[in-house]
Amino acid sequence: MQNKKVFVCGLREESNSFNPLLCDMQSFKGFKYVEGESVVANNGECCVNVDGMLKVLLGAKVNVVGNSDSVYIRSGSGGPLDSKVVDWFIEKTINGLKRELPLDGVVLSLHGATTSDKSDDVCGDILQAVRQTVGEQTIISVSFDLHANVTEKVMQNADYVSGYHTYPHLDIYQTGERAAQILVDHFNKGRMYVARVEVPLIAPASAYTTNDGKLGELMGQADAMVNNGTIVDYSIFQVQPWLDVEKMSSTVLITTYNEEQAKTIASEFAFKLFNIREDLQGSNLYYIQEVIDKALANKTGKPVVLVDSADSPNAGACSDSAVVLEYLLPYKDQLKCALSVTDVKAVDKAFELGVGGIGDFTLGASIAPKLYKPVSVKNAKVIGLYNGDFIMAGPQEKGQKRNIGKTAVLQVGKILIHICYHGKTEGDVNYYKTFGIDPVKCDLVCVKACTSFRAGYQSFSAEICNTDTPGAASPSLKNLPYEKRPKPLYPFEEITENDISIAKIYRK
Ligand SMILES: [Zn+2]
Repeated sequence: MQNKKVFVCGLREESNSFNPLLCDMQSFKGFKYVEGESVVANNGECCVNVDGMLKVLLGAKVNVVGNSDSVYIRSGSGGPLDSKVVDWFIEKTINGLKRELPLDGVVLSLHGATTSDKSDDVCGDILQAVRQTVGEQTIISVSFDLHANVTEKVMQNADYVSGYHTYPHLDIYQTGERAAQILVDHFNKGRMYVARVEVPLIAPASAYTTNDGKLGELMGQADAMVNNGTIVDYSIFQVQPWLDVEKMSSTVLITTYNEEQAKTIASEFAFKLFNIREDLQGSNLYYIQEVIDKALANKTGKPVVLVDSADSPNAGACSDSAVVLEYLLPYKDQLKCALSVTDVKAVDKAFELGVGGIGDFTLGASIAPKLYKPVSVKNAKVIGLYNGDFIMAGPQEKGQKRNIGKTAVLQVGKILIHICYHGKTEGDVNYYKTFGIDPVKCDLVCVKACTSFRAGYQSFSAEICNTDTPGAASPSLKNLPYEKRPKPLYPFEEITENDISIAKIYRK
């Protein structure tokens, strides 16, 4: 397939509309920033999603091209993008594409739920710019996160869209493979049809997983149809719930060689998704005090995990809440606890004091002061100072390097407080372990994550408690200040079968 010329690039960020901090170029440079021909060098520099794409394309002997304008950038979840990043990415990508025209295909690694200070649909904008540059004949295939907001603009410009099937996301590599394989199949066997159906439904990401439960069952049914050859590919997107945009929905995509069959099956799965809307909202949340009481009563020798998913940086929150700390302080001599707060000023103070230094600190609410208040801590001892490098324990993204900026550990009684410049991937066990805090030896561990942490924490925890805490990624969706969201949207309004959209194919 050396006569097929394909361009590969990407930009990944998950936006949370309730995080006031714009995600700027620095956020990408501190996470993943690859420019030039390295993007397609297949040396593992971009991410496993692109690795999967390149494995398939190079395996099929496709002529994968890149040049000095190729870009792959990725940031952790956060606030909306600074539109300067998007403008820069689109300009570079258009230049890169123009130098390679005519192209047979473009494969993009995008997140799908990305907004900016100027646009509610950055991925739609990127795909439109790519389409306008390469023309109608070039086949565009895109890989998205499970939490993508798959808009009409996306579908009008991309020929094929593949989303993760798992949450926690364990198939990032395989989704890259699927996005590339579909392009190779198109070259070999001709066009497939992608039917899209919208279900006006959102659910807090902390409430479900695909490991078990109704969503896992649904994915299993669709997997079976891929395996027995009924369909070529599918995606059942659970839209990132903390987007406050005019157009948002969960969506089902079914890809087959038969138009009518794609539409029929997409509608069937949309109906099944509609039917589990209540299960996806999760069970009741615990109050913070209830979880503390559980830890006090716990005799298993294993920690109780207090899940502060509302402040999860993986869900785009700021990680600067100290609300749980305020509840824990009265128990500082009884409970060995670990928790984390992103707070630049507090870290600077810890570095000034040095290891062994003792001081009074004001912690939290430094980024999102509208969501909670700072908490004062007296006579905290600095017990560790670090540059913030750590390696992910996984299983999700095991072995990947992360840097959370300058980091300190404070001790107040038996409470260990991890403070850093830029909290991210806090659900990884090494987020604590690398900095001298062993969660296994705690009575109560506060984890700022939605679901991904479970795979690492489950084996050694007495109990994992989803907790009602304030924050930009609050699982209590009804408590958040949505202004732009569409109506009806479950769970805010009850929906009926009639609110499920008609199956539609956008590109033929
Ligand atoms: Zn996701």
